[in-house]
Amino acid sequence: MMRVPFLDLAWQYQSIKSEIDSAIAGVITSAGFVGGPTVAEFESNYAAYVGVDYCVGVGNGTDALELILKSLDLRPGGEVVVPANSFIGSAEAVTNAGFRVRFCDVDESYTLDPAELERAIGPQTVAVMPVHLYGQPTDMGAILQIAADRGLRVVEDCAQAHGAEFRGRRVGSIGDAGAFSFYPGKNLGAYGDGGAVVTNDASLAQRVRMMANHGRIGKYEHEFEGRNSRLDGLQAAVLTVKLRHLDQWTARRREVAEVYTDALGSIAALSLQSRLPDTLSAHHLYPIRTSQRERLRSDLSSQGIATGIHYPFALPRLAAYAHLGQSDLTPRSNSWSVELLSIPIGEHLTDDQVAHVIETLSSADLA
Ligand SMILES: *Cc1c(COP(=O)(O)O)cnc(C)c1O
Repeated sequence: MMRVPFLDLAWQYQSIKSEIDSAIAGVITSAGFVGGPTVAEFESNYAAYVGVDYCVGVGNGTDALELILKSLDLRPGGEVVVPANSFIGSAEAVTNAGFRVRFCDVDESYTLDPAELERAIGPQTVAVMPVHLYGQPTDMGAILQIAADRGLRVVEDCAQAHGAEFRGRRVGSIGDAGAFSFYPGKNLGAYGDGGAVVTNDASLAQRVRMMANHGRIGKYEHEFEGRNSRLDGLQAAVLTVKLRHLDQWTARRREVAEVYTDALGSIAALSLQSRLPDTLSAHHLYPIRTSQRERLRSDLSSQGIATGIHYPFALPRLAAYAHLGQSDLTPRSNSWSVELLSIPIGEHLTDDQVAHVIETLSSADLA
């Protein structure tokens, strides 16, 4: 039986093995383990890739969000609006930075609904965090307009959207700052944890860099108490190699997504993620929605096709957020969390594997 893995990082490594091996050996030979030229080189390459002036490598994507929020000079204890359909890291960063989470519902794009954002904003709101979920850009035109009208800062969670574009601009370059994750399974993944903050704001970049490195400006000169959240040299070297291949991998993801969308759009029992005009998704995931999720999942599994669920609980319904009592505010996120199913997408898929997924979905009994 044909197997269709959800992700295949071992395959990816084999496809770029000689480049990776020599990059890693270079870091070890020069003992540039934390900071140094390898990290600086990646930061400058990634800033250019996103289309911003500054990139600061940090320990992971959640820290990237938290460091931005802590460095924006927001009113302490204010509220930050976060979509209910996301990974917990988005909301955790808000609380850990000293702010309060206000969950907001999503629309058919599964990203923040601008109309719901208007309703979520109150006198305590200081910022909004659009999450470009599954790789699909949020409606940044509407979000920026609302933020400007209400005096809010905009922090983009780009953890799933490396290279995604909104009206010709890459995500992360649109709001006040963007946070990326380089967790191994992300579209641009390190060989361990990693993350980055991107921005055009020089002083914000400087504060983030200091905060992520013990509030340091010189070796033993510390202006304030920061923390330790740095990108290490080995990860930066791996990321520099992978960044050279990212556009090609993303192009393959887009090709697969188009084939899926053409074939699955006509299956009445499946709903697909809606997409704004003039956007390019990074297609980190390919979610479909069905009321028969468990049955479909086992049908796919019996045909060798791996699937994922992103996410089984809307954030307000997690035990971690029960005390907020906000789960009634986000009915769409709540009901879609039991219907969403992610099918395999990635540069590792062959045309035959994609056809096998489509054939299995087309012949499934979804009544
Ligand atoms: C992965 C992810 C994060 C967190 O990134 P880490 O590097 O794992 O800390 C935050 N938000 C979203 C939407 C993510 O997918």
